[in-house]
Amino acid sequence: MKKFLKNDTKFICSNCGKEVEVLGYTSRDHCPFCLYSIHIDNNPGDRSCDCLGMLEPIGIDYKSSKTQIVYRCVKCKTLKKNIVANDDNQEKIIELSLLGYK
Ligand SMILES: [Zn+2]
Ligand SMILES: [Zn+2]
Repeated sequence: MKKFLKNDTKFICSNCGKEVEVLGYTSRDHCPFCLYSIHIDNNPGDRSCDCLGMLEPIGIDYKSSKTQIVYRCVKCKTLKKNIVANDDNQEKIIELSLLGYK
């Protein structure tokens, strides 16, 4: 069973230090500037994972209908995916897509 909880709060990005505003239409789950995220969820938005490692963006997955950023947790090496947000840094997205993640 996958559950999705809306959990849209502003936060300071632990990677680039920028203040990230709430997204509005869905949960903000990654930084729009550097695209880093934090390993905090087991299911999207549930905040039930206590790993708290940095999720490093390693590529882009265009296979599903929504464009997703592919992450690897620097601490536990789990792979995660987050859907791209409207205000994500497009240059970073293109850079990542060129990394050739499959
Ligand atoms: Zn950041
Ligand atoms: Zn982790």
